[in-house]
Amino acid sequence: MASLIREWVGINTFASATQTKLLEMLGKLKQENVDTLTILVMGKGGVGKSSTINSIIGERAVSVNPFQSEAPRTVTVSRTRAGFTLNVIDTPGLIEGGYVNAQALEIIKRSLLNKTIDVLLYVDRLDAYRVDNLDKQVVKAITDSFGKGIWNRAFIVLTHAQLSPPDGLPYEDFYSKRSGALLKVVRVGAGLKKQDKKDFAIPVVLVENSGRCNKNEIDEKVLPNGIAWIPHLVKTITEVVLNGSKSIVVDKKLIEGPNPNERGKFLIPLILVFQYFFVVKRIERAIKNDIARESRPSWE
Ligand code: GDP
Ligand code: MG
Repeated sequence: MASLIREWVGINTFASATQTKLLEMLGKLKQENVDTLTILVMGKGGVGKSSTINSIIGERAVSVNPFQSEAPRTVTVSRTRAGFTLNVIDTPGLIEGGYVNAQALEIIKRSLLNKTIDVLLYVDRLDAYRVDNLDKQVVKAITDSFGKGIWNRAFIVLTHAQLSPPDGLPYEDFYSKRSGALLKVVRVGAGLKKQDKKDFAIPVVLVENSGRCNKNEIDEKVLPNGIAWIPHLVKTITEVVLNGSKSIVVDKKLIEGPNPNERGKFLIPLILVFQYFFVVKRIERAIKNDIARESRPSWE
């Protein structure tokens, strides 16, 4: 099958400064013995998942559709460059008619059987002003499917990042409010606890897929904050890959087994029994002993 994987020629369409940075980062990954990466792209419909994939690959690899919802299937795009293989998996939007599309999620899961997910891009738009229960449901559905650990391997991508914030709000303020709100919903939806904060430091990356994205003096696509976003996105991918957490292996157990976050719950009654005999009983005994010893109050 390897012979079918196409050369990643799209890199050549990037500004030469961007190309140099990307090849440097691929070199760094290879130094760390990473020569294949599989990136899963998920999120609601119409947020710019497919467009972001095309931007990264540098060609129209998957179809982009402004009005129609995608066919409920995943599409894997594979490209190689300098001994490095990149697989990017596009998925259908997870929301339909106001609910999480369980069937789409099932199709996504099954098509990932025997694959290893190295990175999850959770895509949404920067130019949205509210988060709601649906966002939480999408995150929860992803977590229920792949386990909480996927958020160690995830970051948030916000598209439509070339915007002028409403009410004259400075760009950085708008960005930090929007990303803060989304991060909060992700943490709640994924069931991440406060003490998980260090383990699950989820980065947020801005993206502008429009052909009208501004460029800097060396022809790199830049955002209103001056950041060349393609190198920044790829840098974040390498940081997530090298953060010491495990990739997600999608095996039969993960797909057919119990919800990975519920595993171990059967132990709870055993733990309660254990606590009763070894903790409660011991304390009771200690109190009884104390009472026996001090049958007469010391102040007497
Ligand atoms: P998907 O359903 O999440 O795969 O979203 P698509 O990639 O198909 O994008 C939906 C629509 O949004 C298309 O018309 C895209 O051209 C547009 N779009 C996606 N990303 C951006 C972006 O960063 N900026 C702008 N201006 N439009 C975008
Ligand atoms: Mg799409």
